[in-house]
Amino acid sequence: MTAMGDFRVRVGVGLDMHRLVPGRPLILGGIAIPFGRGLDGDSDADVLTHAILDALLGAVGAGDIGAHFGVGRPEMQGISSLVLLERVVTLIAAQGYRPSNVDATVIAEVPRIGGYIPAMRASLAKVLRLSEGQVNVKGTTAKGMGWLGAGEGIATIAVACVTPLPTGRPAVSSHRSRRVRPGR
Ligand SMILES: [Zn+2]
Repeated sequence: MTAMGDFRVRVGVGLDMHRLVPGRPLILGGIAIPFGRGLDGDSDADVLTHAILDALLGAVGAGDIGAHFGVGRPEMQGISSLVLLERVVTLIAAQGYRPSNVDATVIAEVPRIGGYIPAMRASLAKVLRLSEGQVNVKGTTAKGMGWLGAGEGIATIAVACVTPLPTGRPAVSSHRSRRVRPGR
């Protein structure tokens, strides 16, 4: 940040939710949490990382996780969402930006995730190339209300800020990010 300030800071929001099912590992922020159920989905269904992915894509005006990684693609089966996060960091760098901070709230009635938050922050910060102080993760419950409160699934809301890369490369104009996808 120069003395004049750089006003090209951009912000994005991400919201994701997955159902808890038996026979799946529970992965949050790249960390495996011992629990009798895990999140259902094509990838490792890491709801925390997915919300951050969407927030980062939103910050650079690049659509959402579905547009980039799709649903039901064989190559997505069981893939670590940290790999997808790495790809998004590369994608936003191509547009002249880098993540500057992330804040996320995981809504989980079960299990209690508080003890795993430091590990999640470290895991995400490494991929985002940020310090752990720039990657905040909070846990809360739904106070017994609705499907979240019944422990049927886990949801996450995340906000991410991006700032221009220090090279001073101009941000790519918006038409570049509107890619044509034949056959989709
Ligand atoms: Zn997801």
